[in-house]
Amino acid sequence: MLEQKMKIALNQQVNAELWSSYLYLSMSYDMGGKGYEGMASWFAAQAKEEFEHAGRFMKFIGEREGKVKLMPIEAVKQTWDTPKDAFEDTLKHEKIVTEKIHKLMDMAVELKDYATQNMLKWFIDEQVEEEDAVRNILEKLQRIESSPAGLYALDKQLGKRGND
Ligand code: MG
Repeated sequence: MLEQKMKIALNQQVNAELWSSYLYLSMSYDMGGKGYEGMASWFAAQAKEEFEHAGRFMKFIGEREGKVKLMPIEAVKQTWDTPKDAFEDTLKHEKIVTEKIHKLMDMAVELKDYATQNMLKWFIDEQVEEEDAVRNILEKLQRIESSPAGLYALDKQLGKRGND
């Protein structure tokens, strides 16, 4: 069984993952509305992944005889001036998520909760990948600056996510 403290923290992480999903959904519609269809689909895929992350935490809480508590999801930002702004916010957000996962791991270690530690290892690796992927996109955006041709090509490339 999960310790109370761990259960509360994991339920908070469910909310954080759902909030992430909400954030990327908002970015998806904003980018789509601005004509960046590829980025819109990239962020939609990202939103779906975050929803799945919430699912992993919920499944785990259930398996450890805990009760999943779905809490209200706070509103997210609705608009970004440029794709670069959206991806900068994405990287900032993913760094915060990484910290949250690390804090959960600290707690699991402190409580000698080995099953939770094992479950969290997947998320630790996932965060390394997430940050790296977003950093790569940001590097490209920096190189492109505001070149329409460059943005067009990158948008097309990002639109291929999930289709390969
Ligand atoms: Mg996540």
